[in-house]
Amino acid sequence: MTMQGKTAIVTGSNSGIGLGVARELARAGADVVLNSFTNRDEDHALAAEIAAEFGVKARYIAADMSKGDQCRQLIEDAGGCDVLVNNAGIQHVAPIDAFPIEKWEAIIAINMNSAFHTTAAALPHMRKRGWGRVINIASAHGLTASPFKSAYVAAKHGVVGMTKTVALETAEEPITCNAICPGYVLTPLVEAQIPDTMEKYNMGRDEVIKKVMLERQPSREFATVEQLGGTVCFLASDAAAQITGTTISVDGGWTAL
Ligand code: NAD
Repeated sequence: MTMQGKTAIVTGSNSGIGLGVARELARAGADVVLNSFTNRDEDHALAAEIAAEFGVKARYIAADMSKGDQCRQLIEDAGGCDVLVNNAGIQHVAPIDAFPIEKWEAIIAINMNSAFHTTAAALPHMRKRGWGRVINIASAHGLTASPFKSAYVAAKHGVVGMTKTVALETAEEPITCNAICPGYVLTPLVEAQIPDTMEKYNMGRDEVIKKVMLERQPSREFATVEQLGGTVCFLASDAAAQITGTTISVDGGWTAL
């Protein structure tokens, strides 16, 4: 599965799954564009490290995925791409009648609307290149619900719906659009949920991981960012040319329950 000669943009890729995905695409030979909104020296350094480690072109472009114009500008600044991975995401946990509206709006904007803007901007470039892959990092919560995560569940279900629609709109072209639905992956996003969960259930960290998080994941193991990256590389490969409009769960059996 070589990605040589391809350029991939991964949104939200200065940590967690996005960084793992960018690294696996680079390992397969793709030039990569990293993104986040932070624009720190460390972000640019991450791109330089990837370029040096894998012998590909890698750069970091700052853009705030909560802003539609910046999502579109990211694609233009990168000169388009062959592979677009919509990965940027945030989470907030609260009952719906106490869900802060600004959190709701930020989650919908970053987790769902950004994929609309980047995809709309990237498709004309993919058509010119005669090849394209749109890969959306949704979630097990794009297929199932979970209490207290209404905005996240709504956004991820929206991403899954948009994935199917884009696949149909591009079905006769050499372009595919799919979603990956991870279960739990131990990234900063999940780490951030642990302290509140410890307090809520009066449990230690290990107990929260075992009895609350991995209890939902039949494999009883976290998926890794490398496994997510490998799944992206597969969907980006020619072997997956007839796979479009679908979801691939990387969730240790969560959604099979
Ligand atoms: P993470 O917090 O490590 O990464 C989130 C990334 O999004 C970071 O790079 C961050 O800089 C970026 N980001 C956040 N707000 C942004 C903004 N406004 N503009 C640009 N970038 C922004 O979390 P993660 O777990 O790696 O999450 C990545 C994706 O995977 C998310 O879409 C998340 O919903 C999804 N996901 C994660 C899990 C999990 O268990 N970790 C499970 C299912 C789905």
